[in-house]
Amino acid sequence: MSFRVRIFLLVMLVAVSAIGATAWLTLNLTQREVSGALEAQSRHRAEIMQEIQRYGLTHGNWPGVNRLVTDLSDRTHLHIQLQTADKQVLVDSDTEARRPSGAVQAVGYDIDPQPGLEDSSPVPAASPGPSVAEPAAPQAYPAPSVYRRIGLVPRDLFGPKPTDALYGSPAALAVRQAAQYRTGLVLVRCLNKTLGTEAALGSTQPPYVTAKQRAQSPTCLKQATAKVLGDKAWFLSYWDYLDNCTGQPRRLVGDPLGTKCIDGAFADTVVTSSAVPVQLFLGARGTVDIADFGRPAIIGVAGLVMVALIGTFLIARQVSRPVRRLTGASQMLAAGMLDVRVRIKGESELARLADSFNTMAGALEQSEARQRRLIADVAHEMRTPLSNLRGYLEALSDGVVQPSPELFASLHEETLLQGRILDDLQVLALAEAGDLGYTKTPADLSELAAAAVTAHRARAAEAGVTLELDAPDEVWVEADQDRLRQVLGNLLSNAIRYTDRDGHIAVRVAAEEGEAVLTVRDTGVGIAAGDLPHVFERFWRADKARQRATGGTGLGLTIAHRIITDHAGRIEVTSQPHLGTTFTVRLPGVTPGPGRRS
Ligand code: ADP
Repeated sequence: MSFRVRIFLLVMLVAVSAIGATAWLTLNLTQREVSGALEAQSRHRAEIMQEIQRYGLTHGNWPGVNRLVTDLSDRTHLHIQLQTADKQVLVDSDTEARRPSGAVQAVGYDIDPQPGLEDSSPVPAASPGPSVAEPAAPQAYPAPSVYRRIGLVPRDLFGPKPTDALYGSPAALAVRQAAQYRTGLVLVRCLNKTLGTEAALGSTQPPYVTAKQRAQSPTCLKQATAKVLGDKAWFLSYWDYLDNCTGQPRRLVGDPLGTKCIDGAFADTVVTSSAVPVQLFLGARGTVDIADFGRPAIIGVAGLVMVALIGTFLIARQVSRPVRRLTGASQMLAAGMLDVRVRIKGESELARLADSFNTMAGALEQSEARQRRLIADVAHEMRTPLSNLRGYLEALSDGVVQPSPELFASLHEETLLQGRILDDLQVLALAEAGDLGYTKTPADLSELAAAAVTAHRARAAEAGVTLELDAPDEVWVEADQDRLRQVLGNLLSNAIRYTDRDGHIAVRVAAEEGEAVLTVRDTGVGIAAGDLPHVFERFWRADKARQRATGGTGLGLTIAHRIITDHAGRIEVTSQPHLGTTFTVRLPGVTPGPGRRS
């Protein structure tokens, strides 16, 4: 499996595990939250409603309810929101706890903080109640006639319930209870203000304020009673309303005693002093505590984190180890240790990179070795003629050898040979560096061979060797003509050089299976079978003394091989000692365009 695929699979595994764990935890948590919230709601809803309703009822307004809501939310682990009838959020437990407000259920529960009317059925007038004295009301109270009409005894506002027909009528009792509630609220606020307490109404039932609260501050009690009882307009308007309830029209609408009407009128009466109705909305708490996950979930998360860590570590190690090896090897290579190699098993991309590195290091090593050999070869080649020259010059200056035209000609010939060696070396160096620019054009190999034969005919005749050309047809190649002439010249001069007098040289050009084939066959000294593999090597000569004497540089065939290879061709040699040698050059053939040959 390739390295890339393994990395992909490992990362996929880690990613899928992480996504799976997240999904599982989310589902688990959501399920827990939903079921927990539903359970808590059914368990705590009544309690929450009751407490909030009690708060509104006993305070007469909502400021300060946020503390109760926060407390209830903490106790029940529910998100509690109170909204007014016009959908304004009055208080939100999430906002109070400074966290983003979570969702609440769409259905709200009405909380009516108004006191209900106590049983207002008429009190039987069987036994006459205690005689009602005219109240000794302060001047601020409504006129006594008003009380009488209403049936209210101011000084007995918080006293025993009246029982006679007049004072105990349902309407009178309703007014009394409303007045008690209103007075109670005023009294409590007065107590809080003067005594610095934070009390509310002591009871949700009439008379709402406890005896203790009434006794706490007679001044406050007096002020509260005076304020409520002195509100003549309030009394009269509601009294009229209540009084009408027992009138004729009520009987006609199926409320003969006027009870429903009185309840409604009471509600309308107390609404002016009580807190406004609100709606309660419940939801799950917005924040998640890690402890909420439970022990198995925490162990699962920890396990997944461990798997992710180990997976990442393994990936990192698998990636980094071979990369580290390659880095170290390339540093060693840069420091000159060309024999360094990296071993990475397998078929992965990194193994292939290591292979490429090893190939590169091998090529560098070979190139370095070639360079060293070249320098050694060049030094060796130059040493002998320079020693000769030096020896002759010293002998001449010492007078040991007499100067003669022949000696100077020989020394001159030696310097010419050195020059040729250097020229050939330069060409070879350029070719090996790929800098020997070729100008390739379509060329007729037969024509080039004919020209080369003509150029060498004189030398062949001088050496007593016959030179024959067999190139009847045009054979076209795409080549640098100057470089091909150089190759032909080298092959022909070698053939002449290594063929004895009366020998024969045959040059043949032909097209064979789409290839242009040139052969130069001689009947010369030949090359030993063991020497044939070295023929194209630099400075290789079969007989150093003889070839040097004949002016050979030992580079001609090396250059020829390079030129032919650069033309996508091949050069081969076959030879039999004392019988002759054949060099064969094969080049890719091309079809010439019309009228190419003049
Ligand atoms: P040189 O300039 O010395 O001839 P080459 O590279 O052309 O260098 O040839 C290398 C060697 O190959 C020669 O020294 C010679 O020993 C051998 N050689 C080349 N051509 C022939 C041939 N036609 N017959 C016999 N030996 C040859």
